[in-house]
Amino acid sequence: MSTQQDNSFQAIIAHAKEYGFVFPSSEIYDGLSAVYDYGPYGSELKKNIRDYWWKSMTQLHENIVGIDAAIFMHPTTWKASGHVDNFNDPMIDNKDSNKRYRVDHLIEAHAAKLEENGQTKEAETLLQEMDALLAKDDFAGLKNLIESHKIVCAISGTCNWTDVRQFNLMFDTKLGSVTDEADTIYLRPETAQGIFVNFLNVQKTARMKIPFGIAQTGKAFRNEIVARQFIFRMREFEQMEMQFFVRPGTEGEWYKYWKQARLQWHLSLGIPAEKYRYHDHVKLAHYAKEACDIEFEFPFGFKEVEGIHSRSDFDLTQHQLYSKKKMQYFDADINVATGKPYGNYIPYVIETSIGLDRMFLLIMAHAYEEETITKEDGSTDSRVIMHIPEKIAPIKLAILPLTKKDGLPEIARDLMDECKNYFRCFYEEKDAIGKRYRRQDAIGTPFCVTIDHQTKEDNTVTIRYRDSMQQERILLSQVKDIVTNAIF
Ligand code: ATP
Repeated sequence: MSTQQDNSFQAIIAHAKEYGFVFPSSEIYDGLSAVYDYGPYGSELKKNIRDYWWKSMTQLHENIVGIDAAIFMHPTTWKASGHVDNFNDPMIDNKDSNKRYRVDHLIEAHAAKLEENGQTKEAETLLQEMDALLAKDDFAGLKNLIESHKIVCAISGTCNWTDVRQFNLMFDTKLGSVTDEADTIYLRPETAQGIFVNFLNVQKTARMKIPFGIAQTGKAFRNEIVARQFIFRMREFEQMEMQFFVRPGTEGEWYKYWKQARLQWHLSLGIPAEKYRYHDHVKLAHYAKEACDIEFEFPFGFKEVEGIHSRSDFDLTQHQLYSKKKMQYFDADINVATGKPYGNYIPYVIETSIGLDRMFLLIMAHAYEEETITKEDGSTDSRVIMHIPEKIAPIKLAILPLTKKDGLPEIARDLMDECKNYFRCFYEEKDAIGKRYRRQDAIGTPFCVTIDHQTKEDNTVTIRYRDSMQQERILLSQVKDIVTNAIF
């Protein structure tokens, strides 16, 4: 990360804390590594992002329904899914500092440094070599690559490395009071398996016909070894996942469809397309047929925010094998090639999986701006403004009586009563109006309405727009509709 990038990232983290978006977990005890709490505006923003995703998946797709599965699942789930045996990251320890690194992160950081020094070709070759070795699980080769490039530990500065080893990322705990091996259960590392084990329950009760999807949002837990970059990589985080069940042979076209549809969802929030790119996977997960990431340009470079995976019939087949329960679907549609129904089969699956916290960070990074304002007299002022898309802003409308007297608070309260059922409003009568505007800019409130003495005469108010700072006089009776139109 360049110094400038680092500064802007640090500024976002500081702003998130100062304005009640994100706090370190149990901060009074010095925090807990890679665990965070969301404050008053953060929890609103997070909920709004979740709702926006949920609506786009379920309400806007007749063939997608939701579930809310438990975090704890039968331990065999994770044997069947492959997580017990395969959910590992290759790690390497520096023998002098005892610091542990994820191998891909260590090499990627070195490649980023090469690129900063103008050695773009070398950086590209290094990443290609790494991808090839990762794809073959060639751990000795990875260690060789690190040593031959003289990649050093940031703390000790030495190249004294252990062998590359695998570490499982699942947290385990015990069920009940007995503490023998048999009672070990896991905190789910992804929400997807809750969908797979409920596949037939959902298909039958909601009478779904293929192709159809099941959506879910919820907490997931991973014992990330390298846990830094604020809420980008957490040990407890939330996912928004959708598994789309399709007829075998159609997975290629559905993969393309969801790859495109998910990027459109991101763009529908008004975030510029050049901030996004796809990254097609070379090393596929143990279940994947085809996979890509949607990457966003965070202050520390392009990084994954969402994964689209063509998972074949891997998960349902595995659950059928381990549970000995049929996971088949009966497809009564006529296959034109044979003139007969498609019959029984295990569906193929396209997964879309996005981290809610990572999406939250994306919004914060996109929204944050330190703006210098030149006033009419030539002097300058500055403000921090959060350009949070209107649809998901924590507060939609601030209602600000100019003074605390002369009946202005009463009019403001009436407007509050009119609007608060429809969207989140904020009422404030303290401090100079300019100061109040600045505070709303800092939490990303798109509209402020000021009630002044003229309001009493002609029922008009001043509406002030966050991004342009433009102000105009409108009728009090128009306020609710203006805000409503902007947020849907
Ligand atoms: P990464 O390569 O960054 O570790 P991943 O490929 O393991 O991510 P997936 O298993 O595909 O991630 O999970 C889907 C999504 O869940 C990711 O795109 C990301 O947004 C989110 N996610 C995964 N791990 C974390 C984490 N530790 N903290 C926050 N979000 C996460």
